[in-house]
Amino acid sequence: MPQGLGTIIQVVLALVGAYAAAFWFCLVVWTFRDIQKRSRDALVQVLATALVLLFNVPGLILYTILRPPETLAEAYARSLEEESLIQDIEERQSCPTCKRRVQSDFVVCPTCRAQLKRPCGHCNRLLQLGWRVCPYCGEDVSTEAPVAPPSPTPLRTLRAE
Ligand SMILES: [Zn+2]
Ligand SMILES: [Zn+2]
Repeated sequence: MPQGLGTIIQVVLALVGAYAAAFWFCLVVWTFRDIQKRSRDALVQVLATALVLLFNVPGLILYTILRPPETLAEAYARSLEEESLIQDIEERQSCPTCKRRVQSDFVVCPTCRAQLKRPCGHCNRLLQLGWRVCPYCGEDVSTEAPVAPPSPTPLRTLRAE
């Protein structure tokens, strides 16, 4: 009987050991995958994985405290968001002369009459003052109107053309 009991204890210990090893292995794999999502630095990846490999659960707790808070995908999404926000701000135009807010399709500033844009003589779409060719129809507009800097020219000089 003591021999049988010894065998049972051995089997139980082997099972527990195998379970612990598998659990440990899973923690290491999880950490490796997680740090790959958060850092491209190979040294950081190795250190994080080694931390969990050496210290197991306490190492994992340390890792979750110290790991970069954002994944690379999250950081990328945030940078895209910030970029579009900046672009939004840049697209809100203001009059170069009086600095009042103007719409992007204004030809003349309604406050100080400064010329902001001019229509293409061919397709009539609005062009920046410095453009030499209409980007919409390809018409050469370099001779049509005075080039920047914008001056407070009334709209009628445009209409006269
Ligand atoms: Zn103005
Ligand atoms: Zn045009």
